[in-house]
Amino acid sequence: MKLIFEQGASGRSANAQLPPDTNIDDIPAHYLRTTPPVLPEVSEMDTVRHYTRLSQQNFSIDTHFYPLGSCTMKYNPRACNSIALLPGFLARHPFAPATTGQGYLSCLYELQDILAELTGMHAVSLAPMAGAQGEFAGVAMIRAWHLARGDTARTEIIIPDAAHGTNPATAAMCGYTVREIPTDKQGNIDLDELRRVTGPQTAGLMLTNPSTLGVFEQQITEIAAIIHQAGGLLYYDGANLNAILGRIKPGDMGFDVVHINLHKTFATPHGGGGPGAGPVGVSARLQPFLPLPVTVREGEHYRLLDETDRPYSIGRLSANHGNGGVLLRAWAYARMLGEPGMARVAQFATLNANYLMARLDQAGFDIAFPQRRASHEFIVSLKRLKDETGVSAMDFAKRLLDYGFHAPTTYFPMLVPECLLIEPTETEAKTTLDAFVAAMIAVAQEARETPEKVKSAPHTLPVRRLDDVRAARKPDLAWKPQI
Ligand SMILES: *Cc1c(COP(=O)(O)O)cnc(C)c1O
Repeated sequence: MKLIFEQGASGRSANAQLPPDTNIDDIPAHYLRTTPPVLPEVSEMDTVRHYTRLSQQNFSIDTHFYPLGSCTMKYNPRACNSIALLPGFLARHPFAPATTGQGYLSCLYELQDILAELTGMHAVSLAPMAGAQGEFAGVAMIRAWHLARGDTARTEIIIPDAAHGTNPATAAMCGYTVREIPTDKQGNIDLDELRRVTGPQTAGLMLTNPSTLGVFEQQITEIAAIIHQAGGLLYYDGANLNAILGRIKPGDMGFDVVHINLHKTFATPHGGGGPGAGPVGVSARLQPFLPLPVTVREGEHYRLLDETDRPYSIGRLSANHGNGGVLLRAWAYARMLGEPGMARVAQFATLNANYLMARLDQAGFDIAFPQRRASHEFIVSLKRLKDETGVSAMDFAKRLLDYGFHAPTTYFPMLVPECLLIEPTETEAKTTLDAFVAAMIAVAQEARETPEKVKSAPHTLPVRRLDDVRAARKPDLAWKPQI
């Protein structure tokens, strides 16, 4: 397919779409360009066809089942989008004074409140713009708290081996050494090992519960007691709240800090590196350190707190209020669902995952933790299939695309060989889950009968196997005119 630059012809344009004449007289001459910009010269119709064709070549939640574990690719109601796009929100300048944005600030305030309630935390800041940034804010607050008490001996953060890669990266970025602890055969943390590595050097523990292995850590209150007794704090990676929404709260499990990925659980799709929001919630003792701004209500009015109100804040992580559009979608979603709706999300997310797990188990797939109930996601290992047929989890995933399903997450978590991490989400119907099981069975059969067909998949998509290492290391993103 041609790039848009390679379509059309010199002199063509979509006049109706040109912005109205702007007055450039105010701009100093030395800021003005001397050569015209190199823009695609295409008609309006060429443009429409180009982007429509591109969208049709895409795999997305709007077109396909997308069971990408740990990423929560669920359907996000359009109504939330419509609300975030209301002209009053859209046209508001981020520097506009609080007095002219009371409606907007009231939404932010309510969202802080809802997230605090859902996570069992004392206070929330909406400033971080990604899960990873929320983690950074969380661990930076843990650090600030220890230092504010004059406790400078704490140099380590404990992280289970099953953790998401952003956890150790966050701890390292905040200047901590990572102490990794192993997971046992049931997917739980090894408590003896935890006791052994915890001590006066422990700043805290980072944990996802349910873990990325898809199981709920049942010993969480013992774990919290071990860390707290040693003077450390507990960080909850709440990237994905689908399994616990409205059912259990990290605060009740003993956690001191939580981040939440609104772009997984709260009506913004995750993926593609698009905009996100990773609010952080904290217990009372960490409140002074929250990143700014924080919205407060004073009588009938809303106001943003700044450095003079919160001198101990770890600072600012985003321009203005963070990702306003994502925050508004989350607010609309939470208000639409209400408390009973939240709990239903968790019920159906776990029901769908457990149904799918049971069906795949019956179909002969190896479930990584067959004795455990799944949370919102679960792991299938294709190790046996690979040993028998040479077909890897990657080949299997690529072949699923030919059947019209986005692949589950592959090779994560790294503890399980040849794994697929499958998250159906609460928004899918049983018919879709059944069709996915049928495709899984069909691909497994192909792996045994015609393995080459699976190893060379996908066969039906616009592109075949991509060199993803080259794409990451040497991305070729800029079109250059041929002269
Ligand atoms: C997605 C995810 C993150 C990171 O979130 P980003 O917004 O991608 O930075 C962290 N932890 C877990 C468990 C996740 O699934």
